[in-house]
Amino acid sequence: NRAWHLVTRPVGWPKPEDFALVEAEVPTPRDGQVLVRNLYVSVDPYMRGRMSAAKSYADPYELNKPMLGGAVGEVVASRAEGFAVGDHVLHSFGWREYAALDAKNAVKVDPDAAPLSTYLGVLGMTGLTAYVGLLRTASFQEGDTVFVSGAAGAVGSQVGQLAKLKGASRVIGSAGSDEKVGLLVDEYGFDAAFNYKDGPVSKQLRAAAPDGIDVYFDNVGGEHLEAAIGSLNLNGRIAICGAISVYNNTEPAPGPKNLARLIQTRGRIEGFLVGDHYDLQPQFVEEVGPWVASGALKYRETVVEGIENNLEAFLGVLRGDNTGKMIVKI
Ligand code: NDP
Repeated sequence: NRAWHLVTRPVGWPKPEDFALVEAEVPTPRDGQVLVRNLYVSVDPYMRGRMSAAKSYADPYELNKPMLGGAVGEVVASRAEGFAVGDHVLHSFGWREYAALDAKNAVKVDPDAAPLSTYLGVLGMTGLTAYVGLLRTASFQEGDTVFVSGAAGAVGSQVGQLAKLKGASRVIGSAGSDEKVGLLVDEYGFDAAFNYKDGPVSKQLRAAAPDGIDVYFDNVGGEHLEAAIGSLNLNGRIAICGAISVYNNTEPAPGPKNLARLIQTRGRIEGFLVGDHYDLQPQFVEEVGPWVASGALKYRETVVEGIENNLEAFLGVLRGDNTGKMIVKI
C-alpha cells in the first residue's frame, strides 16, 4: 500500500525531493468504516496551496503523512451499514492505493451511469466549479460574450461549452499551445481562441473580442486578468476561480493596474469557492449529465497510469501537460 507524503514544503516550483512515495500496511477498517482500493485519483492545481503552511480554505498538508485529494475507488471491505464490497465510492483520500475511511465521508457512485473517472472531472468537482462560477458568480445571461482562460483545462473547457449551450453570443478561450487552441475551436465550438504564449494577452483578446466581453472566467490571474478588465463591457462580470499563473511565485504578483475601469463599466469582480455551492450539485447533475451523455458537452481526460506517477501528473498540471482533467489511474 503505497502513499505519497509531503516531506518538505516547496518554495517556488515543487521539486521531486519535496515528496516521498512511502510503503505502509493496508489499513484495517474500524467500525463504521470502509476499506477502499483507489482506482482513479485526482490531481488539482489547488493542491499546490495545501503544500504551503499558509492558512487557506483547505488545511495545509501535514508533513510526513499521506496527502489528500479526490479519488474514486472500490470498496474491498466494509464495516459500515449500507456499503458492500464491490460498491464504488468518491472520497477525499487520494494520493494512495488503499484508504480506510468513515462511511459518512464516502459518496456512492454508479459505474454504469458514467465512467468512474468522470466523477472527478466533468461530472465532479471541476464540472461543478465551471457551472457555479459561470451561472452563479458571473451571473451569465443569454447573449453574453464570454472569455475564459485555462480554456483547454478541466474547468475552462466546460465553462466555454456551457456558455455556448446556454446561448452565449460569443465564446473566446485562451490556452498555452496551438494544439489546445485548435481543440477549443474545432471540437468544443469556441468562436475564437488564442495561444497566450504568442503575444500580449490584451492585444490577442481585443482581436478575438472586438466588441468587448461581458463575462471573464479567470483560471489564471496575472496578465490575463488585467487584459480582461481592459476589455470589459458595461456591467461586465469577472468570476475569480483560480490564479494558476502565480501559484509558484515566491513574491506577491503585481495586481491589475486598470481597476478604475470597473467604475466606468460598473463592473464586478468576485471570487468563489466551489465548496460553498454544493446546493447546486443536484441541478448541475440534472442539467449537465444528459449533455455529457449525449455528447453535446465534450470532455477530454489526460490519464497517467500508476501511483508512482501521481507526483509527475500533479507537476504536469502546473506545467500544462494536461488537456482536460488530469487523472491518475491506479
Ligand atoms: P486545468 O485542467 O485547467 O489545469 C491547469 C492548466 O493551467 C494547465 O493545463 C495549463 O494549461 C494552465 N496553466 C499553467 N500555468 C499557466 C500560466 N502561467 N498561465 C496560464 N495558464 C497556465 O486545472 P483545473 O481545471 O482543475 O483548474 C483550473 C483553475 O481553477 C485553477 O486555477 C484552479 O486552482 C481553479 N479551481 C478553483 C476552484 C474554486 O472553487 N475556486 C475549484 C477548482 C479549480 P496551458 O497549457 O493552457 O497553460
